[in-house]
Amino acid sequence: MTSRRVAVIGMGGTIAMAPSASGGIVPSLDADDLVASMPWLANLDAKLTTTTLRSLPSPSLGFADLLALSDLVRAELAGGADGVVITHGTDTIEETAFFLDLTVPDDAPVVVTGAMRHPEAAGADGPANLYAAIGVALAPAARGLGTLVVMSDEVHGARFVRKSHTSSTGAFVSPGFGPLGLVVEGDPRIRGAARVGLTLPADPRVTERRVGLVTVALGDDGTLLRRAGGAFDGLVIAGLGAGHVPAGMVALVAEHAARIPVVLSTRTGAGSVLRQTYGYPGSERDLLERGLIHSGFLDPAKARVLLQLLVATGAGKQRITEAFDRFR
Ligand code: ASP
Repeated sequence: MTSRRVAVIGMGGTIAMAPSASGGIVPSLDADDLVASMPWLANLDAKLTTTTLRSLPSPSLGFADLLALSDLVRAELAGGADGVVITHGTDTIEETAFFLDLTVPDDAPVVVTGAMRHPEAAGADGPANLYAAIGVALAPAARGLGTLVVMSDEVHGARFVRKSHTSSTGAFVSPGFGPLGLVVEGDPRIRGAARVGLTLPADPRVTERRVGLVTVALGDDGTLLRRAGGAFDGLVIAGLGAGHVPAGMVALVAEHAARIPVVLSTRTGAGSVLRQTYGYPGSERDLLERGLIHSGFLDPAKARVLLQLLVATGAGKQRITEAFDRFR
């Protein structure tokens, strides 16, 4: 009889949804139901304990929910769990995974999974994903890699993973880097590099600060930023291409960067913002010279999570810049 234990924490999402009387699928299964509906999980050489922390579609999760989750994950690991698996909606799985990656310093595997098809759909992927996620949570090779996202038998690092498709079961990718590993015949084969190793406190003030995400578009005259920018304690600019904005927006962006931390990322979906290639007004060189902070390889959604945690602890520009430099 095994002494290994995996804590399964339910947050909601399609993996736990069922058709509702009023139409459409809604969260309805708790973590116990999920585990009970998959009898083959009993074949695993591990004890599973379950907690339902939230039963929400993931677009409705907020930083207060992530704080509670981070606290619970740390408590489970301190209480002797060998690994933690979180079932979660796929829409924001990448933000939750990165939040945990930043706030849970343990080496034990923390694995987030979900489903693109609900449990009653033909070809539901939740059972296979949960099975693979538990296998990864028990794998010695998954230790020290930080938080992982397991979907479709692929193991992704929290700092790379993105949802890249609205409905495909192959929606999850790590652009430019690829997955850290694969689950082959139920056996995790992990080759990935260790986590970046930046740990930040899960500070309750994270719920009191606002970090905005502004995506720049062709012909953008900055109206959105001008009207709403003042409401934020920090901003992430999802710039064009390698980190660019229209020339007409430069003064406005610089004005904000003089007041609050403004991080420059890219809306392209892959690659790093550049530092020293383009020299025109609104280019990455221009914006960095005007005080914007380089996001490294972090995409806009993940840059926002990191900035939110940093702003919550009152970090100044230098500390923020150093933190983002870890993701170069
Ligand atoms: N909208 C759902 C959610 O994120 C999608 C999913 O779980 O796949 O909760």
